[in-house]
Parts: sequence; C-alpha cells; structure tokens
Amino acid sequence: MGSQLFDAHNHLQDYGDKDKLKEALRLAAEAGVELMLCNGTSPGDWEAVLTLASENKGVVPCFGLHPWFIKEGAPGWLEGLEGFLLRVPSCVGEIGLDGGKNATDLARQEGVFTAQLRLAKKLGRPACLHCVKAWGRMLELLKEEAPGPFMFHSYGGPPEMAAEFASLGAYFSFSGAIMDGKREKLRRALLAAPAERLLFETEAPDADAPGWRSGPAGLAEVILAAAAILGRPAEELSALSWANGNKFLGGLAERRPKEL
Ligand SMILES: [Zn+2]
Repeated sequence: MGSQLFDAHNHLQDYGDKDKLKEALRLAAEAGVELMLCNGTSPGDWEAVLTLASENKGVVPCFGLHPWFIKEGAPGWLEGLEGFLLRVPSCVGEIGLDGGKNATDLARQEGVFTAQLRLAKKLGRPACLHCVKAWGRMLELLKEEAPGPFMFHSYGGPPEMAAEFASLGAYFSFSGAIMDGKREKLRRALLAAPAERLLFETEAPDADAPGWRSGPAGLAEVILAAAAILGRPAEELSALSWANGNKFLGGLAERRPKEL
C-alpha cells in the first residue's frame, strides 16, 4: 500500500511459537505496519507484553485485566497494573464489559473496568476497550467516568450509538470482521463512525474473519475491505488511520520510560 500502517489492536504474546511470531513481525514490517498496540489481558501475560515491546520497535504495550479473565485478578492486581504502566510508555487495555457467554457477573466486571479507567485517567494513558452485549451500561459508565482518550477495539456496537460515543471522545477500531458480508450492522457501524476517529486492527494472532490469514500484516486487507465499504481510496484510509492512531497515543510511542 506504500504507507505507514497502524494496527490498533493485537495480542502478539499469544503467538506461543517464537518462529511464528518472528515471521509475523517480518511480514508486518514488509507490509508497512510500523506501529501496533499489543494488548495484555491478565497479570499472567503482562511481563510477556513488556518483553515484546522492549524487543520490537513499534510495538506499544498495553496492560489490563480483560473481562474474561477477572478471576485471574488476585488481590493486589490493580497495584501490580500501575507498576507495569509506570515502567514504560503504555496504554491501559484490554479492559471492558462482556455480557456474552463468557461473562462472569456484570457488577464485578463493572468494578474492575471502572477502576482501570480511573487509573488510565490518573496516569494520562489512553485506554483500549472491549465491549460485547453491554452497550447501554458502557455508555452510562463512560458518561459517569469521563475518561481520557479511549478506543473501542473491534467495534460491534449499534451504529446509532456511534455519534454519542464519539461525543465522549471515542475512537472506533474495526477488525477483519468487516470482511464478512453477512454482518450488515457492522458495515453500517463503520459508515457511522466519524472519519477522524477511525482505526483498524487485526486482533492477531486470532483472525476474526473466515478464511483470512492472520497476523498484523493482514491490516492492509482490513483497510482494503473498509475502503470498499466507505467508497474511499485505501491509501487515504491508511494515512487517515495512521494519523488517528498517533493522535490517540498523544506522543506516547515516542516517549522514553524516564519521561513518564
Ligand atoms: Zn483483543
């Protein structure tokens, strides 16, 4: 595509196999993916995320307790999280609400989510949000908490809610799921998201579109699919999402640990 690409959400630590990860990063560099947000999900993978980011330029670490893994938040997890955030320039994520089949009780999820949103605000860090089947509650909590910069990763919320979320400062990241022609509502959500808040992601190593090759290099394909839906040149969307991603980070990627 010839321009710099920003992968707004992945989980490189889940590659398990070192050679596969190396190859995925090589292909990503070849495709022009120069910045990516690597999201931790529980205290058990934060160290791996930190190591990946320190070994690979362009990998921005994100530390958080994901709603699926709340049980792994042993006493002291929040202090542990703050410790990781203070070690390197990083975002808070992946955090959020999940009312789907993997949900533990929602009240506990809300407590864990808002504690992390507050921590992000206190430290001036952007937050990466997961939300499934809890959009009404999500909106209420965001209004109450008035967080700093935040993004919905793999946005799958109602298209009609995009404007209100945007007024609260939301960025909207779309994944390979937009390639699935059957997901009409998702395509409408992409059309409803404001251009200046658009981001794209791969969720690597998971591919969330059937038959799609995984890896951060796949970002170029996500952007091509978005270009077809939005009727805009892919090149333009690449540049736009690169600029939006950097705006979301607010210079965090260039900061050195001692400047925190
Ligand atoms: Zn994720």
